[in-house]
Amino acid sequence: MRFYSTRNPSITFDPAMAILRSLPEDNGLFMPERIPLMPEGFFADIRSMQLPEIAYEVAVRYFSPEIPAEVIRTIVDDAVNFPVPVKHIHADTHVLELFHGPTLAFKDMGARFMARLMSWLNRNEAEKLTVLVATSGDTGSAVASGFYGVEGIEVVILYPSGKVSPLQEKQLTTNGGNIRALEIQGSFDDCQRIVKTAFLDKELNTRYRLTSANSINIARLIPQSFYYIDALRQVPEGSIPPVFVVPSGNFGNLTAGLLAQRSGMPASGFIAATNRNDAVVRYLSGEDYQPHETIATISNAMDVGNPSNFVRLLDMFGNERAQMQHALQACTFDDEATRSAMRECYSQYGYMLDPHAAVGWLAWAQLQSGFQNGTPGLILETAHPVKFSEVVEETLGVKPEIPESLLSIMSREKQASLLSSNYSDFLDWMMGKR
Ligand SMILES: *Cc1c(COP(=O)(O)O)cnc(C)c1O
Repeated sequence: MRFYSTRNPSITFDPAMAILRSLPEDNGLFMPERIPLMPEGFFADIRSMQLPEIAYEVAVRYFSPEIPAEVIRTIVDDAVNFPVPVKHIHADTHVLELFHGPTLAFKDMGARFMARLMSWLNRNEAEKLTVLVATSGDTGSAVASGFYGVEGIEVVILYPSGKVSPLQEKQLTTNGGNIRALEIQGSFDDCQRIVKTAFLDKELNTRYRLTSANSINIARLIPQSFYYIDALRQVPEGSIPPVFVVPSGNFGNLTAGLLAQRSGMPASGFIAATNRNDAVVRYLSGEDYQPHETIATISNAMDVGNPSNFVRLLDMFGNERAQMQHALQACTFDDEATRSAMRECYSQYGYMLDPHAAVGWLAWAQLQSGFQNGTPGLILETAHPVKFSEVVEETLGVKPEIPESLLSIMSREKQASLLSSNYSDFLDWMMGKR
């Protein structure tokens, strides 16, 4: 399989180029030359399969023969090591729990897969790859954990001091090994500025082979389609194909669902649920696409004013708004509605939603009546409620329990280097001068 840039579909690149570089030089985004169609019978037999098998069958069609099938098998077995259970809430409403990975967020799936693919693609290089990431919390922890112990790759994470939650800080700073954390005395924007400057810095680039583990990397996106397919085998047998309700920020998760559908996965529809950052919702309602300044909300992993994967959506629908509207519905909700959804679900069904899934809950409630009676709705629960403990406790008056797998992390010691937000300090640190 080769990959093209959305800016120029006539030139294609091999997987090594697309994955190790993350972004094409023309600032478009990489897309697969064709979306592989799964063989006849694959979806009909889905109930006899398990998630790692499903993942292998999909991945091998994207990445073989450039990446040998047995390598893909190993990567999948290593990366896809947690379940994605569907929980029935009531009537036709279900939740797809994507938070059983090591950092309790759906981003674990993409990050783990991408890390192993990058490591293999880099296997013949004498020099290690150094992944630089700026994070406001969630992405960084999934990347840190995803790359932990992965051969041939060092990770340097920059996070804003005092601006990530205590749990997130532990997740960023207690890995050790090939993961190093820099606590920057500044904002997330300062961290991003340093990383951007670093990629353009000649001196640094002669010393290191730098790469980003950006969320727009196609190797993070494709594995996110695995769990949509896995969800199919968990809805009640004989049901109408489900509607997938996707809490969306950069729209990567949603794009992955659409890729699965193009591969032949049956679905009755897709609903993108957003908070007040609603540029795509407005576009789908007929307005011009108008990216805006990011609006802060309680579902902050979806606070994105200019979703990066919007260009992939345009690409998939041939720049035709009507086509996108046909495949995708979208709605937007504010924090007050989000909190009331969290309360409703908890008091009526005893199920704790995190603020992101709560936005999905609202979208399903609003649009369910437009689907045939009995159509299952699968709301993607993108993070464990404990990751947004403060909002959950404020809203429900109950503190979500930290799962056992994370308890040990809370007692580990933070290891981070404290740096100012000046680029020169960062450079000195990278050059071993401090
Ligand atoms: C990243 C994230 C999202 C948004 O996913 P996109 O792929 O950017 O649309 C939603 N919820 C949580 C908890 C996240 O961490």
